[in-house]
Amino acid sequence: MLPLLLLALTVSADFEGGNIGPVEQVADDHVRVHVNGESDQDGRNHQPSWFYFQLDGVKGRTVTVDIGGLEGEYNYRKHDGSGLRNTLPSYSFDNQRWRAVETSEWLTDPSRIRIRIEAGDADRVWIARQPPYTFSRLEALLDDLAGPALRREIVGRSPQGRPLWLLSVTDPAAPDEGKKTVWLMARQHSWESGTSWALEGALRFLASDDPEAAALRRTTLFRIIPMPDPDGVARGGVRFNRSGYDINRNWDTANPEKMPEIFALRAQIRQWLDAGRAIDVFLTLHNTERVDYIQGGLERGGDRVRSMAAYIWEELSRRTHFHSPEGPRESLAQQPDPGRQTVDQWLTLERGVPAYLIELMVDRNPKIARPPSVEDRLSFGRELAKILAEAAAKY
Ligand SMILES: [Zn+2]
Repeated sequence: MLPLLLLALTVSADFEGGNIGPVEQVADDHVRVHVNGESDQDGRNHQPSWFYFQLDGVKGRTVTVDIGGLEGEYNYRKHDGSGLRNTLPSYSFDNQRWRAVETSEWLTDPSRIRIRIEAGDADRVWIARQPPYTFSRLEALLDDLAGPALRREIVGRSPQGRPLWLLSVTDPAAPDEGKKTVWLMARQHSWESGTSWALEGALRFLASDDPEAAALRRTTLFRIIPMPDPDGVARGGVRFNRSGYDINRNWDTANPEKMPEIFALRAQIRQWLDAGRAIDVFLTLHNTERVDYIQGGLERGGDRVRSMAAYIWEELSRRTHFHSPEGPRESLAQQPDPGRQTVDQWLTLERGVPAYLIELMVDRNPKIARPPSVEDRLSFGRELAKILAEAAAKY
């Protein structure tokens, strides 16, 4: 029955950043895919947050895609995947320009999301949890922006040999002494591609000829860690390195064999501080499903840390789509268990640095009534860079 075979939809994820599990064709125009997800070093904390695949043979059809495998565990608590019930995946007909689906259906037993895509003339569609951001894209961006204002160093290697970059953005003609120092980190967790888009927005602005950016570079040194888990990003991972270690836990232990990424980056931060240099503000960017917030060691850090958190929160809320009606959160209400410290907690506890973590939602943001788009992320990043420099100067 050759004609029928020709009608088959095919699914593949054999490309940079791609990842999808078993596929079942339900009907001519309907497939069911299973998200692989990943678990940690002990087989715990299974997280099914990332999928990115292409679907071929869609021309002229409205295809139905069921996405399952959403059950998991977070911070040692099992869940049935219903936290993903409002997922609005993104799709693209050219693997470049992405948009979120406008609606999805939530189905149970087992938990799954159902989406429909009208393909029109295109015969291939790419589908992902949110607009992907690959290692190659970052590499191309850094090549593009290379110049006196942006310097990059390789400060370590991932287990698969990919570079761990540390970027410096500044005006080399103005002496570093007397400048404020802002440290910014993105994409500790490989599924959180939205944070890379935000970082791209920040970098494009900071390295630009814009007079406002040039003025910032005279007063502020930006130290930026753009991609702490390049292996995870390349394989379409979730939040763990190759050995299963969460890149935003373990900062208090950082074993060089098991988590060389954390070990190398932590050494850079320590060296900087041990040389008597300041970190006026440190921020790590993350994605979560359905909430925006900023957290820090508000109690322990005292007035300066609280005031800075309030300033960043207020300005982001005023100038961007950041939607966080409840205000800054306390990150150290309890002492983290051994091996569970995040980078911001570690910096607060070990070095007394004003350090924060920001979560940015991937689902529909009530303030803009849509999942943040690539353009939304880029303009967020640009404002964020300014706000961090302002906060560093002010407090
Ligand atoms: Zn994260």
